Amino acid sequence: MLSGKHLIDGAWVEGGSTFKTVSPATGDVLQESVWDADQATVAKAAEAAERAFAAYSATSTAERAKFLRTIADEIEARGAALTETANKETALPEARLNGERGRTTGQLRLFADWIEEGSCFDVRIDRAMPDRQPLPRPDIRLMLKAIGPVGVFGASNFPLAFSTAGGDTASALAAGCPVVVKGHPAHAGTAELVAEAIRVAIEKCGMPSGTFGLIQGASQASGGALVTHPLIKAIGFTGSLRGGRALFDLAVSRPEPIPFYGELGSVNPTFLLPAALGSRAAEVGAGWAQSLTMGVGQFCTNPGLVIAIAGPDLDTFTNAACEALGAVPAQTMLTAGIAKAYQSAIDARIKNGKANVKLKGVAEGGACDVSPAVFEVDSATWLANPDLHEEVFGPSAVIVACPDANAVLEVAKALEGQLTATFIMDDADLEAVLPLLPVVERKAGRLMRNNFPTGVEVCHAMMHGGPYPASTDVRSTSVGTKAIERFLRPVAFQNFLQDMLPEAARDGSSVPNLDNGKRS
Ligand code: NAP
Repeated sequence: MLSGKHLIDGAWVEGGSTFKTVSPATGDVLQESVWDADQATVAKAAEAAERAFAAYSATSTAERAKFLRTIADEIEARGAALTETANKETALPEARLNGERGRTTGQLRLFADWIEEGSCFDVRIDRAMPDRQPLPRPDIRLMLKAIGPVGVFGASNFPLAFSTAGGDTASALAAGCPVVVKGHPAHAGTAELVAEAIRVAIEKCGMPSGTFGLIQGASQASGGALVTHPLIKAIGFTGSLRGGRALFDLAVSRPEPIPFYGELGSVNPTFLLPAALGSRAAEVGAGWAQSLTMGVGQFCTNPGLVIAIAGPDLDTFTNAACEALGAVPAQTMLTAGIAKAYQSAIDARIKNGKANVKLKGVAEGGACDVSPAVFEVDSATWLANPDLHEEVFGPSAVIVACPDANAVLEVAKALEGQLTATFIMDDADLEAVLPLLPVVERKAGRLMRNNFPTGVEVCHAMMHGGPYPASTDVRSTSVGTKAIERFLRPVAFQNFLQDMLPEAARDGSSVPNLDNGKRS
């Protein structure tokens, strides 16, 4: 039933060479032949997106909102097939995939509501002051407009919510930008099913055929060609630091550099404050273990670094966590490559002996099966060894034991940019936490109290990004309605006639605006 083809300009087409897809759980071949786009194929997709741009970006917000809701409906109509295919391709359980589908359709509908509300277009009106001395002021109006065709890289760990019709695609389409997705090779079939849902929505809503394209690919050539194509004007990416950095470098070294929004990963420091450790160390340890192993630890928000003052309470936490983690059976990772990278990183940490092994991840079962691993290290050793700061993608963590509160602060100061930071605390910890806040706020995009970081709410107030290397643009989020700003650019219209202005910037428009400095 699956074709393995690319979707370009409304048609399923071949192009490039081919690759096979395999089940991470069984090693069985799932698709004998999926097309791996070459440069010419990528160019066709980018050209189709550019042809669609003028008409698509000129659609009304009501038309685009209807389109986004139709995509959500079409995805729901394919729900069972999507879960079945994604389960075979990723080994993620059905319940998780069903939940992820709800999140995907929910965020499409949230963006539909958000563009209808209109404040995301940031309309500003400074009215003419013809009598101003010494010089008159002309009428100047600004609003955010679609940036152009956008390239999106689907993430391996969220085959639905961060992939073909995921957050990046939803926000770019909401902004008025045609999208070309480079599908992740680990879930090519899921990508095809979702792309077909979008193709049908394009037809039903009368949108230009090039509004959405999918290029399949398993080689770096296809991704590189998308980032460097002159008609692509921005990129959304979720994946590894290495891959994201390579593509970021390509994006900014083009003759015309473009914004590259990469969400790359994080160790998500969790600070255990003394009173909380004293009152509930074992309970916190069990809760943290659950967060660490959710989705086989394959979350960019996985809590992979714990920081606390050494002593019996921290030992109680560690023992409870390791007991809970030790009871977790080996789980199947997304791909053989990701499982191998996890196991090699754990083996290297065990071999170099810098940190004490509290729990050892043993490879057992299938080729992609792994177990949790926990290391403990004193803060002086952690500070002296940057390799211990690095993310190991999977159910693994480092616990940093500090001699005192000052050492906790030193560890906080040495952190790289993070997506999240967590404070596990009782009310009695307020005094202890306050000195940490200004330091940690500069390190992370989302700070939380007594919540574990896995589970990212899709809402207006969410920030899912952070200082590099958590993301390549500290100002932006890839989750929540604020994400739309990445694919909009400000355009000012000076001394324009009403009929020349975009409708939202005209007098009498119902779109919220800032009129002579006052919010409407
Ligand atoms: P990845 O290796 O970064 O790949 C993501 C996408 O980028 C794939 O489509 C890949 O295409 C493409 N790509 C990567 N490097 C490229 C390059 N140099 N030139 C052109 N295209 C390139 O991520 P992954 O396959 O999802 O997982 C690998 C690692 O990424 C994990 O072990 C983990 O560390 C990290 N990860 C992080 C997150 C997160 O949420 N931040 C999510 C998933 C994974 P090809 O495969 O076709 O080359």
